Amino acid sequence: MLSKRLEQLADYLQEPIYFADIGSDHAYLPCYVCARHENATAIAGEVNQGPFERAKQTVREQGLGDRIEVRKGNGLEVIREEEEVNQITIAGMGGKLIRTILEEGKSKLSGVSRLILQPNIDGPIVRKWLIEHQYQIVAEDIISEDGYIYEIIVSDYRNAPIELSGREQLFGPYLLKKKSNVFYEKWFNEKEKRMKLINQMNQATDLPIEKIKKLEIEMEWIEEVIG
Ligand code: SAM
Repeated sequence: MLSKRLEQLADYLQEPIYFADIGSDHAYLPCYVCARHENATAIAGEVNQGPFERAKQTVREQGLGDRIEVRKGNGLEVIREEEEVNQITIAGMGGKLIRTILEEGKSKLSGVSRLILQPNIDGPIVRKWLIEHQYQIVAEDIISEDGYIYEIIVSDYRNAPIELSGREQLFGPYLLKKKSNVFYEKWFNEKEKRMKLINQMNQATDLPIEKIKKLEIEMEWIEEVIG
């Protein structure tokens, strides 16, 4: 059975679906999507041999080899220029790694209208990259599963400048509007983390003043938002 996290992510793919799932591991997501959409095609990209083999095995077992190609490679290099990939999913990694994959693979994004991203941490880094590259956030989710909280960020390419305030980058524009229970849970924990960090930093002999300032501003925003 697919995780709630990946099911929710799959719901954001728009027909016609020609997508690349980067860091696909077992290729569960491409298999789930292609089993439900008879015209969908996918590339399952994996950089590591173990997950690459696992992905090939799942695709074989599910008899989806005619519509899912499993390719080994780093990030977006598995997408060949001439191919029609209209959407990309990247899930289950840190925001910094997602940013690196997007940045290094920028040349492969020309036909990609939608990016569906699920950073495990560092969502603001992903949002910043998106707005700097004219991808507008069009939906977000925050879910709790197996003791972890996950954010899903859906963005569409717009040929126009996009702006997000500092608060929107930190909390996520849609998550901030909705303020679900899971959102409160996340930001309560984040507030505690920041309080501890500020205390630790204040005890350092060489005070990291800029870092402390940034954390203090974020603390103010968190207090305003969750009370
Ligand atoms: N996407 C699946 C999910 O959300 O359940 C699997 C997530 S798993 C934690 C992360 C996967 O990304 C691993 O299988 C890892 O090998 C792969 N990965 C890490 N860096 C990668 C990169 N630069 N390019 C492609 N795959 C990568």
